[in-house]
Order: sequence, then structure tokens, then C-alpha cells
Amino acid sequence: MRRFLNIFIFLFLFLFVRLPLAGETPYLILISFDGFRWDYANRDITPNLERMKLEGVSALSLQPVFPSKTFPSHYSIISGLHPQNHGIIYNDFFNPATGERYKVGDTSSVRNSRWYSGEAFWQTARRQGILTASCFWPGSEVDLTYRRPTYFKRYDRHRSYRQRVDDALTWLQLPEEKRPHFITLYFEETDDVGHAYGPDSPEINRAIAHLDTVLGWLFTGLAKLPVARQVNVVVVSDHGMTIVKPENVVNIPTLLAGTDCRIEGYDQVLFFWPDSGKTGKIYRQLKKAAQHFQIYRRNEIPGFYHFRHHPFISPLVAIADPGWVLQKSKDAVPAKMEKVSKGAHGYDNHFLDMHGIFYAIGPAFKSGYRTGTLRSVDIYPMLCKIFDIPPRRNIDGKLERVEFILKPEK
Ligand code: AMP
Ligand code: ZN
Ligand code: ZN
Repeated sequence: MRRFLNIFIFLFLFLFVRLPLAGETPYLILISFDGFRWDYANRDITPNLERMKLEGVSALSLQPVFPSKTFPSHYSIISGLHPQNHGIIYNDFFNPATGERYKVGDTSSVRNSRWYSGEAFWQTARRQGILTASCFWPGSEVDLTYRRPTYFKRYDRHRSYRQRVDDALTWLQLPEEKRPHFITLYFEETDDVGHAYGPDSPEINRAIAHLDTVLGWLFTGLAKLPVARQVNVVVVSDHGMTIVKPENVVNIPTLLAGTDCRIEGYDQVLFFWPDSGKTGKIYRQLKKAAQHFQIYRRNEIPGFYHFRHHPFISPLVAIADPGWVLQKSKDAVPAKMEKVSKGAHGYDNHFLDMHGIFYAIGPAFKSGYRTGTLRSVDIYPMLCKIFDIPPRRNIDGKLERVEFILKPEK
């Protein structure tokens, strides 16, 4: 009788509570809440993140790369490289060798794989025979098949959040040979609302609560799937948000007093491309007048930004102080001031307001484990470790800075 009972318990465990077996490819859903500042999850309005904190891993904050902008940051998360090494140095920049521009709003540049150096995790995974999928992520729509996820969607900010969650759940119900093991999801609401109303507004609190509800839909849907217990869920954000006051604007052309110079970038980081022989003059002019921003020659940009060694980084770079906006048009200042949004990001990535979140739950992660600040470049090597595949060589991310949040191998 006892033996019969043991067999019954074993069969029950095997059939219904299947724990991942050694050597089995895990599942992981990587979710980005754009502009979700590190402390948004401490406002008592995010029960699903709270549950992840209790049952999984939570970090005090996630330090983004510099510049703390959507495209550079997401591509660093997925490639383990600083922007100076992956080439997406801002949301909007210029290649001096060809005169071509990259712009987030311009789909032909966003899809052109030549802009993206390094290797996104989905490419690393593909080489190991792992299928991947993405319902949005910067860099996931590039024109070369082998450099993008197996399944991907063209970015559509109007795709409903319910639909995005359903996309992930549908992918996880594909027949095993077609089923992706790594999926990314992206939600822009907290960035949109943070810009429009600021990080301390009632509107942002509604957006925070809403994204947490969307996360709840995913957990509810996952619980009904046969693979439920094998799925890891990681929630991150690309940067935080800080208050900007309408009067905190520096009009750059007035400081240049008629000296002509091509200026790229916007708001937090400006790239100056002076005509030959003019660099010294412009540098001295800006240095003398620099208030509320720093002006650097390329080789003087502080090492902690990891933002020097790329041909798209101009000979002179201006970086706004937190909360300040650099205006590059000649328009009268008062006319533009009303357009300055209430929240902004892109500043020094050591400034705590620029930090995002990191929450993780699932069989790969420790349970109820809280840690300090993690770095977004370390996520790529962490993913490689979880999937037990070799990372691309020469990345900036370091497994040893994040490995301790994973369950030790049996
Ligand atoms: P930022 O200016 O850094 O705040 O950029 C945020 C904006 O980037 C969001 O409002 C999105 O509409 C846009 N965005 C995010 N992901 C993508 C994507 N994959 N393709 C195009 N645009 C995107
Ligand atoms: Zn963003
Ligand atoms: Zn933004």
C-alpha cells in the first residue's frame, strides 16, 4: 500500500507539478515598463510587483547606461554593451562619415541593422537553436533575419496592452518545436505620462497602477498554461524620470553668439560638429558660458559615462545638469518654454532619479531575495547564464555582478 502511495505521489508530481529538469531549456519573459522610476514600485499601488518582491528577486534600483534614453538603454539591456560599443548612442544621432541620420521616429533607420553593433540576446539564442519572440523592443525589427527574434512585431504604440499580453501567452501555447523560450514585452505608458505630467503627479500614479494590472493579466494567463512553473518573468525599466521646470532651459545658440555649428541630439545631450578649425573656439565659448550644463571635448568625457569611443560621438558634447533642458533652436525662449515637458530623462545615469526597476520571479531566481542596485548592462550575461549558453565575447556586462540573484545550480 505504502509503495503504491509513493508511486502515486511520484506520478502526481511528475504530471501536474513538473519542475524543470536539469538540461531543459527554461522560459523567460523580459518585460520593459518604459520610464518606470525605481521608486514607483514603493507607492503601495503595485500589488503584482509586491508579490514578485516577496516571492522572487527585487533590486533597490536598476542603473541604466548613459545616456538614459529609451533606445540606447534598451539596446544595452539586450546586448550587454554600453552605447559607445553598440552604436545606438542616443535616440537621434548622425553618422559623420555618410551623413545618414538615425532617428527613433524614422522606421527605415530603426530597421536598418547597420546601425546596431554587437549582438542582441535573441541572436545569441538563435545560434544555440533557441527560438525567441518580441512584442516590441528597440532593435527587434532589424532587416536581417538572423539578427532579430524568431517572431517579432513591428512597433505599434496603439497595440492594446491586453493584446500584447495575449501575444506572449499565444506564443507560449505553440507546439513545442515552434514555441519561443525567450519573449520580450514593452509598455510605454509610464514614460508618456511621466513626460506629460511629471513623476509626482496623480496621473503617473494611475499609469503605474495600470501597468501593474497589466502584469497581473500576464500572471493570471500564465498560471493556466502547462509551462507555467517553468516560466521566469523579469520586469525592468530603461530609465527613470525627473521633474523639469519650464524655466530650466538653456538656449545654446545665444551662447554661440553667431558662430555657426551643426548641433545634433536634443534636450539632455547635444552633439556639436564644428567646421574644421572651429572646435577650439566653440569649446572656449561654451565653457565660459556653461551654466547648468557641462561641455566636454570627446576625450574629456568622464570615464564613468563609458561614452567616448564611437565615431558618432562628436568632438564636443554638452550634457545638461539634472532637471535642465538644452535648447538648440534659435527660437525665442519664452515661445518654446511652454513646450518643455514636466518630466525628463537622459541625464547622468548615476543620478538616482534616472534609475529604473528590476524584479524577477521564477525557477531561475532566488525567492524573497532583495539586493541593492543592479546594472542594466549585466542583464545580457545573466540571460546567457540562465539559458546556459555562451555570451558574445567582449561585452561590458559582468555575470559576477548579478549571478548571486540566481538559484545556485544543483
Ligand atoms: P524617449 O524619448 O526616450 O522617452 O522614447 C520613448 C518613446 O520611444 C516611446 O514613446 C515610444 O513610442 C518610442 N519607442 C519605444 N519602443 C519603440 C520601438 N521599438 N520602435 C519605435 N519607437 C519606439
Ligand atoms: Zn524610455
Ligand atoms: Zn521618455
